[in-house]
Amino acid sequence: MDKQFDVQMIKANATTLGLIQTRNTLEQQIHDAEETEKSYATFLNDVFSTEIKYRQDKAKEKRIKEAGFPYLKYLSDFDLSFCKSVTKKQFNQLAELTWVEGVYNLILSGPPGVGKTHLAIALAYHACERGYKASYTTMQSLMQCLRTVEIDRRSRVKINRIKKSHLLVIDEVGYLPISAMEGNLFFQLISELQEQTSIIITTNKGFEEWAEFLDDPALATAILDRLSYQCDRIKMSGKSYRLENRKSFLKEES
Ligand code: ADP
Ligand code: MG
Repeated sequence: MDKQFDVQMIKANATTLGLIQTRNTLEQQIHDAEETEKSYATFLNDVFSTEIKYRQDKAKEKRIKEAGFPYLKYLSDFDLSFCKSVTKKQFNQLAELTWVEGVYNLILSGPPGVGKTHLAIALAYHACERGYKASYTTMQSLMQCLRTVEIDRRSRVKINRIKKSHLLVIDEVGYLPISAMEGNLFFQLISELQEQTSIIITTNKGFEEWAEFLDDPALATAILDRLSYQCDRIKMSGKSYRLENRKSFLKEES
């Protein structure tokens, strides 16, 4: 009776303190502690650790959800033997994420299918797992948000989130031409993010072609100047992974 009362009191107190996982698992944890004859210190330590782990997992889930990935890709699935443009050493350095800490940018350029988006999403996902806030956007969607930030609440939320991120992926830069007005908005954003947010850009264009899709050589130079200040560039050449690993549904003729 007394024990039952204590348990109910602890649960109520846990609720007051916002210790949700402790409240939900208390009976089981007490049962386990009794079964294994845990010391008071070990029991209390386990209760706290369970709560902390739960909170960390929740926060990680939230970061991944809010990053806006179109789908998930993982570093562990990235086949380095297929991608000859990234050495094992570079790959490990990228995965260490010290470059995010130092606010370096990364430009992944190359033709379709070589793994630019895969690597960008996998790095940003990995960053989320490690406690960094990351955001994903395509260039097209970013332009749409920048154009409508004053009138559309969703655009505002997305841009605000981007500005608070440690790492931003801008996918597919250069696929579509952008207007002078959009170019200016892009420049302003890049300037604001400088020394605050690491940016991964994936692009099918070489630097010399940026002036063309931005339709303004001076602006292209200014943007590239900002981006390249602390930046590594990986030219991802080679064959398309999609074409090389094409899946088909028609049976071979016998
Ligand atoms: P890109 O963005 O360069 O056009 P993606 O990253 O979308 O190419 O890659 C196309 C497909 O091939 C994706 O399904 C991706 O997971 C896969 N892929 C590309 N490169 C690799 C690689 N080195 N290892 C494993 N999968 C890869
Ligand atoms: Mg891509």
